[in-house]
Parts: sequence; structure tokens; C-alpha cells
Amino acid sequence: MSSHNPTPAGGPLVEGPHDPEHDPRASYGLEPEYVAALTDRLTATSGRTVQVESPLSGGPLANIPQSSDDDVKEAFARARRAQAAWARTSLEERSEVLLRLHDLVLERQDEIIDLICWESGKARKHAFDEPLHIALTARYYARTAHQHLDTQRRIGVVPALTRVEVNRVPKGVVGIISPWNYPFTMALCDGLPALLAGNAVVAKPDAQTMLSALLGARLLDEAGFPRDLWQVVAGPGRELGGPIIQRSDYICFTGSTATGRLIAAQCAERLIGCSLELGGKNPILVLRDADLEKAAEGAVRASFSNAGQLCVSMERMFVADQVYDRFVERFVARTEAMTLGATLEWGNDMGTLISQDQLDTVVAHVDDAVAKGARVLTGGRARPDLGPYFYEPTILEGVSPDMTCFGNETFGPVISLYRFHDEADAIARANEGEYGLNASIYSQDGARARAIARLIKCGTVNINEAFGATFASIDSPMGGMRESGMGRRQGSEGIHRYTESQSVGTQRLIRFSPMLGMSNETYAKVMTVQLKLMKKLGRA
Ligand code: NAD
Repeated sequence: MSSHNPTPAGGPLVEGPHDPEHDPRASYGLEPEYVAALTDRLTATSGRTVQVESPLSGGPLANIPQSSDDDVKEAFARARRAQAAWARTSLEERSEVLLRLHDLVLERQDEIIDLICWESGKARKHAFDEPLHIALTARYYARTAHQHLDTQRRIGVVPALTRVEVNRVPKGVVGIISPWNYPFTMALCDGLPALLAGNAVVAKPDAQTMLSALLGARLLDEAGFPRDLWQVVAGPGRELGGPIIQRSDYICFTGSTATGRLIAAQCAERLIGCSLELGGKNPILVLRDADLEKAAEGAVRASFSNAGQLCVSMERMFVADQVYDRFVERFVARTEAMTLGATLEWGNDMGTLISQDQLDTVVAHVDDAVAKGARVLTGGRARPDLGPYFYEPTILEGVSPDMTCFGNETFGPVISLYRFHDEADAIARANEGEYGLNASIYSQDGARARAIARLIKCGTVNINEAFGATFASIDSPMGGMRESGMGRRQGSEGIHRYTESQSVGTQRLIRFSPMLGMSNETYAKVMTVQLKLMKKLGRA
């Protein structure tokens, strides 16, 4: 594929096959032919391109052709034609394609991970989570297709004489707007159940990470999905969002709460459904009976996976007074032992933030907290020696409500520690604020932790794990309560959102009006007797 195999490990990338200053398709890291083969998958004829850079070095990576309003229109026209034929295929056929995608993603994982690292700058081990999640999602939906989509018998009003069944009808064309933080899986994972249910997709991935999303589209083609079934358009969300929502039959959005609100309002205007996977300020609770080594290991992953740029990562940690000092010592030691680096190698425990914007936010949150009296237990510094947007994993103590990072999502490698004395207080503080995405509880008493989980206002709660126990269990719905979202991905909820349920009732022998010369009054009496009888018989 690309020329990046001899990647300079540990150092900035300064050379490449072409000079981007003079060749608009050239990049320091990727072969222009490779980039062109990916961008060929776009519907983008405006003639405009936007250069994206790699956060590994800050150097240019590729020029991405941009889509116009006409391109969005054309993408929907193609998708609609493809969907009409696709909806007539069998579930077996669709499931087979998903299972081929599963194999393909695992076989091509090196290529996928390389591209994710080039575009996002994350550590290789965090990039691996993306093909892993797509393989899990593809296999899960392929293997459970009939369970979710088969026509189901329901209870008819008159036993034996009213037959009712419910069909799952595809919505049509689903618009998917996705963020940059997990650029491969966020662009693809929500689309797989949409396709399985018989829909087409028009995808608008984030502008910073188009290539990973386009590689996903190529892999869908190679697995055997009809090419026109999955359209990709490129451009700023605020420009393309409206034209996409105007033409979609359903919107699946993942991104910030602020953008989610705008999208929900536009969907409401058109009376189309939407699912919104939004931000969080996720709490982790370390109870006094927690295994402290396990909790410290989990806390590192919970806080610093993908440099904290993960919707389900933790930014607030509540630790029982009785174990606070012992836990913090272990957590700080493990954090300080992390290997940091902006390279494609496996050895890094954390990579860089993706952009100057992200770095600015993290610096602003930490500097504000420190200026107002918070203590930095470790980290707290940018690391330009490692990469232009690098920031150290940071643990804060003494964070108070007047500090920006107390309740606002940082979306970076910064966690605030708080002591608690009793569990009711910890639960109340974990539930503070308007978000409700993910929580984690460390305790050796599983039953007690599960009881506490029911009191936490979050869509997912992981016990003795950061986020993987729920996120990787594709049968379990994933999404946010309160301002962290609406609707769910994964599980039956994650596929039923892309279908309309259609009830078909067939009536035999009797009708729902007086028969055999019966008066309306007698009919009402007969029906009343029947209702009472049905209740006695225990019928729903
Ligand atoms: P963002 O809302 O700025 O952008 C997300 C996507 O929306 C991008 O594709 C962007 O181009 C598009 N967009 C921006 N403005 C738009 C508009 N007006 N109309 C239509 N589309 C528009 O979010 P971000 O900062 O890129 O992503 C980080 C956020 O995403 C964080 O808050 C994070 O918690 C959240 N997130 C949530 C989940 C989840 O599953 N709940 C997963 C990943 C990220």
C-alpha cells in the first residue's frame, strides 16, 4: 500500500514520496496513489480540496476533495436507487456480506491501524480497538439478523380469530454524521445494522479523518455490498449537515452535545427520527473493597485511552477515603510509567491529541484549574518534543465547582480525583451535572456494585472495567441518558432504530361490529362480558 512502512519511529516525519507544496495530491506519509484510490470513493465534484495534516508531525497528509450541495443530492439519488434493490435481498445474503467484512477487517488490520494512526495520532493499541469493534459488530449483527428482523407474531385481540404480525420495514436512506476520535469505527459501526435492515447510507465523516472512513467504505465494497449503497460526502458539518438532514429518512449522529441539539431540532422540523450519541463527563467510583491494583490499571485505561479523546473515558474519579492514599499512589505510579510517543509503533501507551484545538482546550482546562488552586499530581504539561499537540496524562486533585474542568467535558487526558466518605455521597456526586453516558465501579462485591449501578444515571455502567465490558458486548445497548444522547447503538435497539414496525392484522369469522341482527347495546354487553372473561383467563 503506502510508503509508510519504514516509518521513522520516535521522530517527526519530515520526508515522503512527494512534496505537498508542489503536488496537490502528495503527502509526507502516504503514497498519492493510495490516497487517490481512497478519495475516489467520494461523491465530490466541487473542484475544491481541503488539506489535512497528520497530528504525528503536523505535516500535510492528503488533500480531500469537497462535496457540494449537488453532490449531496446525487449521493442520495444513488443511495435511493441502490436501496430499492437491496431491500429485496434476503437476510442470508446480507449476513454473508457482513461476515466477509468481519474477515476482511481482521486480515487488513495493519493497513487500517496505520491509517488511523496517521490521521489521528493515537497509540497503535488504541487504534486496534477500531477494527476489533467493527469485527465484533459485523459478526454480532450477521449472527442475530433473524432475531431482530424476522416478522413476529403478536397477541391478536380475539384468540385464534385475530392474527397479528409485525414486519420490520427499512426506513430508506440513513444519514450518518460521525466524529474524528474513532474515525474508522465511528464512521462504520452504526451503518452496519442499517445495511443489514435493508437501508442505504449517506455518510459524512469528520473532515480531519476522511481517509479512515473512506478505507471503511472500500472494505464494504470488497466484502460485497453494492457500491452505491454506501455513499460518502466530504465537507464542513455546518454546511453539509442541513442538506443531509433534508434528504435523510433517519439521522444517526455521534459528536458533541452542542451539535446534537442543532441536529435534533432539524430532524424534529422534518419529523424524522434520530439517534444522538453525545458527550460525557464520566465518573469512576473506587469503593473501599476494590482490588486497588486492578482499579489503578483500569483507571489508566479509563482516563488515558486515545489520550482521553473517547466519549466513554473517565474525567472524574471518586475514591473511598479508606483506600484513597493507597490507590492514588498506585494510579500515579502507573501513569508515570506510561510510554508516550507519536509514532506508528506498538510500544506506546498513549499517543497525541489530534489537533491544536484539542490541545488548546486541554491546556485551558488544566491552567484554569491550577490557577484556582487545583494540584497536579502528575502531568500537566504539553510535550512539543513528542509531537505538536502532545499533552501528558494528567491527574488533578482539589478541583472545585468554580473550575472549568469540574463539570465540562475536557475530552483530553485529564482526570480529577475526589475523596468520598460514604457511598450515597459518591453516587450523588457521580450523578451531578447534565451528562449521563458511561460510569465505572471498582469493587470486589459484584452484587453490591450492580445495585449501585442502578442508581447511577448513565446509559452504561462497567464493573471492574473501564468501558470495554459494555462497549464490546455488542448485544448490550450503548448510549447516553440526559444530555449525553437519545437512542442507542448496538443490540436490538441499535438495529430497530433503522426500521419502521408495521403491524398486519388478519381477521377471521367475526367482525368488530354487531352481528346477526344484534343491537349496539347488546353488542356492548357481549363485549363487556368477554373483556371480563379474558381478564379472568389471564390474557394480556
Ligand atoms: P462535533 O459535534 O463538533 O462534530 C461531530 C460531527 O458533526 C463531525 O462530522 C462534524 O463535521 C459534524 N458537524 C459539526 N457541526 C455540524 C452541524 N452544524 N450540522 C451537522 N453536522 C455537524 O464533535 P467533535 O468535537 O468532532 O467530537 C467530539 C465529541 O463527540 C465529544 O463531545 C465526544 O464525547 C462525542 N462523542 C460521543 C460518542 C458517543 O458514542 N456518545 C462517541 C464519540 C464521540
